[in-house]
This record gives sequence, structure tokens and C-alpha cells, in this order.
Amino acid sequence: MIDFELPPGAKMTKKMIHGMGESLFRKIARKYDDYENEHKEVEELKGFGGMMPTPGGGSSKKKDKDKGGGKRGSGGGVGLATVVAAEEMSWSDAGLMLAMPSRGIGQSAIQAVGTPEQKERFGKKVTAMCITEPGCGSDSSAVRTTATLDPETNEWIINGEKIFITGGNKAEAYVVWATLDRSKGKAAIKTFVLHRSLPGVTLTKLEPKLGIRPSDTAAVVFEEVRIPYENILGSPEIELDSGFKESRKFFDLTRPGVAAIGIGVGRAALDFTKEALEKEGYTFHYDLGQQRLSAVQKAMLEMEAHLEVARLLTWRSASMADHGERNSVEASMAKARAGRAATQVTQKCVELLGPRGYSCEWLVEKWMRDCKINDIYEGTGQIQMLIIARNILGFGRDLLK
Ligand SMILES: Cc1cc2nc3c(=O)[nH]c(=O)nc-3n(C[C@H](O)[C@H](O)[C@H](O)COP(=O)(O)OP(=O)(O)OC[C@H]3O[C@@H](n4cnc5c(N)ncnc54)[C@H](O)[C@@H]3O)c2cc1C
Repeated sequence: MIDFELPPGAKMTKKMIHGMGESLFRKIARKYDDYENEHKEVEELKGFGGMMPTPGGGSSKKKDKDKGGGKRGSGGGVGLATVVAAEEMSWSDAGLMLAMPSRGIGQSAIQAVGTPEQKERFGKKVTAMCITEPGCGSDSSAVRTTATLDPETNEWIINGEKIFITGGNKAEAYVVWATLDRSKGKAAIKTFVLHRSLPGVTLTKLEPKLGIRPSDTAAVVFEEVRIPYENILGSPEIELDSGFKESRKFFDLTRPGVAAIGIGVGRAALDFTKEALEKEGYTFHYDLGQQRLSAVQKAMLEMEAHLEVARLLTWRSASMADHGERNSVEASMAKARAGRAATQVTQKCVELLGPRGYSCEWLVEKWMRDCKINDIYEGTGQIQMLIIARNILGFGRDLLK
């Protein structure tokens, strides 16, 4: 039987995060939105590191099978527990959630393909993920950053530039996509872990942005950065068709999380709008035919349905990860649906609330800005649709670009 109920542990975590969000996140949300990049850390959140959902599954303090934070093939999964927590925290504030003391998004790559020894060595480091470059984003196979092996010292030498790196300023380490040999295409792209304090690592820019402003977004340059041979994640062999797939496993873990963040922000806007409209005398019905509903009532129900569809897709992809099943297509479906739903819902909420929705008196205008990123990073909505279409049609990247 299909069970759509959350396990009791996950329900409890959800309730606890909701309470913390209402009493803390919502109160400081505007301050950290206004003063982007002025604070390296969010002072008020310093004690909350253990609550943060981590890419390895569950909270960063412990794993709890009951919460759904189970195993996933080669390492921790994104997990139902993680997406439920991510949605709830983002309902309070997505930017603050991303700025919380946590192990960072780069940990997903370490958990997906790292050896037990690498997980032990790097697993507790705050780690950012560095894929995007000035000439490479959606087409991540176009990476130009190089990794060259020095046969004398048996060290990798990393050279290149990465941009738009989430948490790049708060990170202690970076997971970097680099090519061993550009002439060998995507199979030569490998993933490396390097410490931020190494000579040759320079943070060159902190990006001012539209939304999720408490979370820093950085540009980093790597010049002749030397790292031990053992810092490569996965195999150093260039095998046609396998090397890149290994690097891309990271997305199977992160996309359900990004989808959940979008749903959380969309739900925040919808909850607030419903409450504001109820104060104006509107009532909302679930048992009337649509011909008997006003345009506003119908719009509210449609938005709720869009978020619910996105949530079910997200839970499915996360639950598959928990059970060690390959979830690439389901993760793309969840992210595509959630990114679009959140964008549409927040815009509609601003529209329904009129000028007060647009003003900074309420947080709705901020949620409209905050949610857009979920349709951009970890692969844009358009790229997710391409992945899904390729899978359904059985076409390769060469046939459907
Ligand atoms: C706030 C923020 C945080 C980020 N964090 C990180 C991070 O931590 N690490 C990291 O590596 N990167 C990060 N990124 C980068 C992000 O992942 C990329 O911006 C994103 O993947 C898009 O790539 P691009 O910028 O090269 O856009 P482009 O690839 O140039 O895309 C531009 C537009 O063209 C569309 N498009 C491109 N190709 C196709 C196609 N084949 N078919 C149809 N449409 C297409 C895209 O959907 C998009 O709408 C972040 C970006 C932002 C804004």
C-alpha cells in the first residue's frame, strides 16, 4: 500500500522547526535581507547548527531512521527527513536557512561518491560546491578549470575560476569540478576537494543578489593550487560515459532539497495571503464546484494544488534516495515542478494582495524574490525539462540539446 503519511519523527521535527521559524527566523528575515553581505555569519543562528538538514540525510547531529534519513547506496541520502525539514525552514526564511551553520552543499558530492576514508576526512567541513564558471553553467560539461597531476609530487594542480558559489565565503573547503583533459570531453571531468586556506585560493567577489540575500554567493579563483592525490572524489580513470555520471550523482541528492526550499517559500506566501484575505472577509471552500467560486477563491485553490503536486514529486524523489534507488529523473521532475510552482504562487500572492503585497511592510515581496533561485541553480527549469524529455523519449544529449 502507498503510504502518504509522514513518519512520527518527521512530523515532530516539522513542528519543532515551524515553531523556531515563527519565533526567530521571521523576526530577523528583513534585517538580513536588507544588509546582504555585511554579516559573514548570522549571529542569532549560531546555536542552531545541529538542526540544519544536511545532504548526508537527517539533521547534522544524528541520523534517525524514523525520520526517513536512511541510507542511499554509496552513502547518505537526501532523505525524506531532509526535504521535510528544508521545506519547513524555508517556510520561515529560505535565505536564513541557507546561511545557517551547516556542512554545506558540497557535502552532497562527498556523500554521493566519496570513499569511507574521504567521508571521514572531509565529512565535517563546511563545504561549498564549485561547478559554474564564466563560460559554463547549464552545460556543465564545458568546465574549463583544469586538474593536472604532478608526477614528481603526486599532487593535483588546480587552475581555474568558479562563479556564483553558494556559501563560498563561509566555506572551509570547496568541492571543485575540473577536467583532466579537455580534449576527452565530459568523461574527463572529475571532482576534487580542496581547502580554502591553501595558497592560490582567492575569493574575488561577493555577489549582490535579488533574493536569498542572507546566503553569500561568491566567485573564487584557483591558481596553481596543489592538493594531495587522495583528494579526488571517485575514480581518476577517464572512462567514456562513466566519469561524468559519477560527478553528476551529486544532483540526485541536491535537487529534491532545492525543490523543497521552493515549496516552503511558496507555502509561506500562500499561507500569509490566505490569512490576509480571510481578515478581509474572504472564505475558502473545498466542497464547491468551480462555477460557484470567485476568481480569488479559485486562484487560491489552484495554487494550493500546484504546491501539493510539487511536494508529492519531491517526497517521492527523496524517498527513492532513502531506499537506495536511482532517482535522477524523479529529482528533475520535482525540481522543475517546484521551481515553477513557487515562482507562480509568490507572484500571484503579490498580485492578490495589491500594493501592500508589493511593499516592504510584509514579507511577500521578499518571498517572490527569494523563490526565483530555485528555478535557476542546480540546473534551471528548462534544463530539468530537457533531462525529463530525454529520459521519456530515450534520446541522448546529442539528439535533444
Ligand atoms: C544565487 C545563485 C547561487 C548559485 N550557487 C551555485 C553553487 O553553489 N555552485 C555552482 O556551481 N553554481 C551555482 N550557481 C550557478 C547556477 O547553477 C547557474 O547559474 C545555472 O546552472 C545556470 O547556468 P548559467 O548561469 O550558465 O546560465 P545559462 O546556461 O547561460 O542559461 C541562461 C538561460 O538559458 C537557458 N538555457 C540554457 N541552455 C538551454 C537549453 N539547452 N535549452 C533551453 N534553455 C536553455 C537556461 O535555462 C537559462 O534560462 C548559482 C547561481 C545563483 C544565481
